[in-house]
Amino acid sequence: MPHTSSNSTNSANDDVIATLLQGAQTFRQREYGASNSLMRSLSGGQQPGAIMIACADSRVDPALVFGVRPGDLLVVRVVANLVPPPDSAGADAAVMAAVELGLNALGIPHLIVCGHSRCAGVRTALDQALGGSQPGEPAPGAAEASHESCLERWTAVADIACQEIIAAHGASPLDELCRHAEQRSVLQSLENLRARPWLREREARGELTLHGWWFDIVDGTLWVADPESAAFAPVC
Ligand SMILES: [Zn+2]
Repeated sequence: MPHTSSNSTNSANDDVIATLLQGAQTFRQREYGASNSLMRSLSGGQQPGAIMIACADSRVDPALVFGVRPGDLLVVRVVANLVPPPDSAGADAAVMAAVELGLNALGIPHLIVCGHSRCAGVRTALDQALGGSQPGEPAPGAAEASHESCLERWTAVADIACQEIIAAHGASPLDELCRHAEQRSVLQSLENLRARPWLREREARGELTLHGWWFDIVDGTLWVADPESAAFAPVC
């Protein structure tokens, strides 16, 4: 029996699939038309200039935000752009596999952890941390929370950062608290990367530079963490 759309939701989803298929066709026509096209040359290998660990959020596509072309950026996208610490019982495997590929196999000299505002992943971690620190005020959604939730298990990587932010800025408005937590968790991920001796040594030899960035999806500004003070400031 052929699959048919039976309601408006299915129809909207079918529109998305049709858009994607049309996009693939347009991309092929545009990028593979000439024998010396970029994509044809990239089929022989890649040499990206940077690795970016970014959030899975649909609004923060690194290629679009930073205007790069295929082959420029090795992108790892996971919820809340988190890097677990080494002793995370294998939770770090997917992210670190990509980092190892980029650093060891491709010799990429820059690694950027890029967070963003209004991050649902960090908000999940923050809600959990707030729920834990304020027993009388359950976090939104806590009633539905399940110990089997992969989202909560994953975002728990940001718990230390959230606890620090609550201790330092607990009286701040929620938007501000979220921003602090998003930026602190970027720094925590950089610290977790440096907890790998091989990676820290590569940085010490000057073969790798780590960067902490945060993109504000509200106004489009990019904030960069100062390498010395770790304070974030807008740069463009
Ligand atoms: Zn996010």
